[in-house]
Amino acid sequence: MNKNLNLPLDHLKGIGPETKKQLEEMRIKTIYDLLEYFPYRYEDFRVRNPEDMKHDEKVTVEGKVHSEPSLVFYGRKKSRLTVKVLIGNILISAVFFNQHYLKNKLALGELVTVTGKWDQHRQTITATHLQVGSNQNGQDFEPVYTVRGSITVKALRKYISAALTQFGQDLEEVFPDSLLAKYKLMKRNEALGIIHFPPNREELKLARRRFVYEEFLLFQLKMQALRKHERENSKGMVQGYHLEKLMDFINGLPFPLTNAQKRVVNEILKDMKSPFRMNRLLQGDVGSGKTVVAAIVLYATILAGHQGALMVPTEILAEQHAESLTAMFSKVGIRCALLTSSVKGKRRRELLSELKEGNIHILIGTHALIQDEVEFQSLGLVITDEQHRFGVEQRRVLREKGESPDVLFMTATPIPRTLAITAFGEMDVSIIDEMPAGRKTIETYWVKHDMLTRILQFMEKELSQGRQAYVICPLIEESEKLDVQNAMDVHATLATFFQGRYKVGLMHGKLPADEKDAIMKEFSENSTQILVSTTVVEVGVNVPNSTFMLIYDAERFGLSQLHQLRGRVGRGDAQSYCVLIADPKTEVGKERMKIMTETNDGFVLSEKDLELRGPGDFFGRKQSGVPEFKMADMVHDYRILETARTDAVVLVESKAFWESDEYRHLRGLLDDTGVMSGEKLD
Ligand code: ADP
Ligand code: MG
Repeated sequence: MNKNLNLPLDHLKGIGPETKKQLEEMRIKTIYDLLEYFPYRYEDFRVRNPEDMKHDEKVTVEGKVHSEPSLVFYGRKKSRLTVKVLIGNILISAVFFNQHYLKNKLALGELVTVTGKWDQHRQTITATHLQVGSNQNGQDFEPVYTVRGSITVKALRKYISAALTQFGQDLEEVFPDSLLAKYKLMKRNEALGIIHFPPNREELKLARRRFVYEEFLLFQLKMQALRKHERENSKGMVQGYHLEKLMDFINGLPFPLTNAQKRVVNEILKDMKSPFRMNRLLQGDVGSGKTVVAAIVLYATILAGHQGALMVPTEILAEQHAESLTAMFSKVGIRCALLTSSVKGKRRRELLSELKEGNIHILIGTHALIQDEVEFQSLGLVITDEQHRFGVEQRRVLREKGESPDVLFMTATPIPRTLAITAFGEMDVSIIDEMPAGRKTIETYWVKHDMLTRILQFMEKELSQGRQAYVICPLIEESEKLDVQNAMDVHATLATFFQGRYKVGLMHGKLPADEKDAIMKEFSENSTQILVSTTVVEVGVNVPNSTFMLIYDAERFGLSQLHQLRGRVGRGDAQSYCVLIADPKTEVGKERMKIMTETNDGFVLSEKDLELRGPGDFFGRKQSGVPEFKMADMVHDYRILETARTDAVVLVESKAFWESDEYRHLRGLLDDTGVMSGEKLD
């Protein structure tokens, strides 16, 4: 980078030590930082028609002053100035707080342009801007920046303007001409000027497009470079399994694989055979048949002379997996073992020594599996189920276990592609996008609270046919703050309602692990018919006899989570039902309930969820590994993201990118991140 750009801010005319300090607190330290301090949005001053304005929206209108302004002073220095404005034949009010000096400008009959927040119910704009006359031909949009302390947006714009004048010519293009030409991208310095001082919307759009592509491409280049680095620098195992034996196993399954299952099995096996180390994410909706895929590839590693590990987030799941894998492998003489915290003392020691000797082929458990005392003879493949429950650190420890086993992360939360290629950008992704044939869709209904009696009758009908039911509540105990049904109350209500006919269990996250297991066991053995629970049953639990799912206060859950919960039913042959009790207050909330009743497709739901909640919230927690972009928006700019991803994959594999002069700037930007020196991104 041109060294002028690294100069501190006092090289800029008009910036003294105090301003410099303030700007530094906004993390603007150099000329470059200032130039790259992008607006976070653009204020839109386009004149609107009151009939199209939505409540709480920021709007600009143009109309004639229709009443003498009324000015009221209150408090110590406060004032409220109110005036009627006639727009066409619609009369609205405009209120200005603490701007009493505007009164003289509001002469009766005067044409004015007013900007502010629209209150639909009061038909009033709480105004922030007033302009006498029309703004039709003026600038009708303006960049808005995040500012702090005494730095105002106006001042910031002045500094940026000065920086552009003094140092604009020092900005270098990072893209080679060929890339600029390929997508007709605007040059970097031109685009930067336009981002800060857009002459019109068309040019802004082109400038924005350039930076969106740049941000995405850089990010994807880092990810792809990291992926390449990991693959080529960690010596993987070439797993040569016996193909015929593997085919026999697949042909011996009680059902044929779906095409999607076949495809992902091939993708995984290809990685295992290659000298590179696998780092793959397997996505498949609940019930899409990931377990059997896991079993097949575990068998492959055993046929290649190694051992496999399957790691899951809870002990209940570990037990279930151990059971189903043991059943699947009994015919071919494969030994599976379960390692949980309840395996103690002598049994534990025996198990560990057998593992070390290679007599146990597959070990199943929770993260107890990655403890130091657990040693394999030759670990070839590690699979984790529901990986996003594992932290980044656990993922890393896991990858470092053993020689350098191939690693497969499985998740039942369909992750929108745009998120998957950013949050898991350094991984390869396989997707099971097809359900086994003959699956019945779960009928989903959305009802209000007052329908409870009818719902319970519906539930009883299912129970009377020998079926079981889940009832999910958002909270455990009564909370003063939130008016939501809690699991304990609901449990009491249902226990009374079904007394003498059906048994009701209660499950929540605050119970000790062994109690949870016991309650789950009772339910899976049908000694309780109804399980009232918080969301702890969300992940992976399999009780095929359950056909009825009732979710209280469903508006409190995200779409992906509701879908996960719903996936606890519909696991057997019988028709299953899901009832959502919700009185959502917002349009978005209503939209979510409606979507749930309309589709069973987890990928469709996850895309919607991302759209409605935004990338930051998608995983329901902060450090989700989703990067923040300055200009780009994963949801709106997904096409550009896809393009950047494809380009990055091609570039990183090309010789030109690593050697030719035209890519030196881009390479330089990667260097800054430490990727090239083999450091981790996170
Ligand atoms: P997931 O783990 O993806 O939620 P599972 O692996 O538990 O799904 O599979 C759900 C059910 O579907 C299991 O009972 C499994 O035996 C069955 N199944 C898996 N693959 C197929 C298939 N190709 N055809 C029919 N049934 C299948
Ligand atoms: Mg599963």
